[in-house]
Amino acid sequence: MGEPTRRPRILAIDDCPLVHGLLKHHLRHESAEIHIAGGASEGLAMAKSIRPDVVLLDIELGESGDLDGFEILARLKADEATSEAAVIFLSASASTEARVRGLDLGAIDFVAKPFEAAELRARVRSALRIRQLVRMLAQKARIDGLSGLWNRAYFDRRLDDEVSESRRYGRPVTLVLADIDHFKRINDGFGHPVGDAVIERFASILSTGRASDVPCRYGGEEFALILPGVSAASAIEVAERIRRRLSEERWSGHDRLQVTASFGIADLDACGVDATAATLVEAADEALYRAKSAGRDRVYAVADPVSRRTA
Ligand code: GH3
Ligand code: MG
Ligand code: MG
Ligand code: MG
Repeated sequence: MGEPTRRPRILAIDDCPLVHGLLKHHLRHESAEIHIAGGASEGLAMAKSIRPDVVLLDIELGESGDLDGFEILARLKADEATSEAAVIFLSASASTEARVRGLDLGAIDFVAKPFEAAELRARVRSALRIRQLVRMLAQKARIDGLSGLWNRAYFDRRLDDEVSESRRYGRPVTLVLADIDHFKRINDGFGHPVGDAVIERFASILSTGRASDVPCRYGGEEFALILPGVSAASAIEVAERIRRRLSEERWSGHDRLQVTASFGIADLDACGVDATAATLVEAADEALYRAKSAGRDRVYAVADPVSRRTA
């Protein structure tokens, strides 16, 4: 569900070919790709395209009117594509003033030239660890702990994005809201841990679709499935398949347990020209409410002129 794991990338920006060779040599056994740029504009362009985890940045760059390391750092930090790279300054002038300035601009570390190979490697490794931790935290902040699905905060942002994309490219986007039926009874009758297990199982059923589907935990026993590029008619089939799978699920150790869910579906097309993500949620919620009122364990779509049972 997250981004695929890749080898960490180190970008060195330094105007001295001798330093290029030394860095490549000293870092050759680290489990990271080493990329080298010889000047400021090349370095900034490379940073944008390869999105390095760590940047080794020379301060004394720019004899030819180029930007110096401080200016490069400021630009790296100002660009969303590169702002998260951990920057280590390399400098021959180890003045306190230069160190303070670099750290204040957002560098995480400083290595004096000429560098000790062991110290350089240790500092690079430490920077890579920090990047890995930050990435894990960022990922955690978007994932719901119990279900492993995208969480509500991610859902809100993603639905906004998908609605904009859908408008820009004129492709459909459909939202499915699902709510487990009489979930309170499951908690009351079988215990909270069984309720949790039901949420986990339902989450895994929701995750079996296409890679482009965006399954989210909307809150409690409510779920959302964003289906980019999918029409309402196809979304009904998707939801119907999920509904059936859940209702046919066997729960080992709990023969009497049967779990069902109700589904409400809305697509952007059906919501009118001014529709926003909020309109889409409201419309799907309204369809879900009708599915509940009509007896639960069913799929309703907002475009249905009259309440239509598809179960
Ligand atoms: P309906 O068919 O109308 O949806 O009825 P319901 O009982 O499913 O709906 P209601 O909203 O009244 O109750 C939802 C319950 O879900 C209440 C809450 O205690 C429980 N719940 C919310 N989050 C969790 C969770 O993470 N684990 C467990 N076990 N229960 C949860
Ligand atoms: Mg230099
Ligand atoms: Mg509910
Ligand atoms: Mg419910």
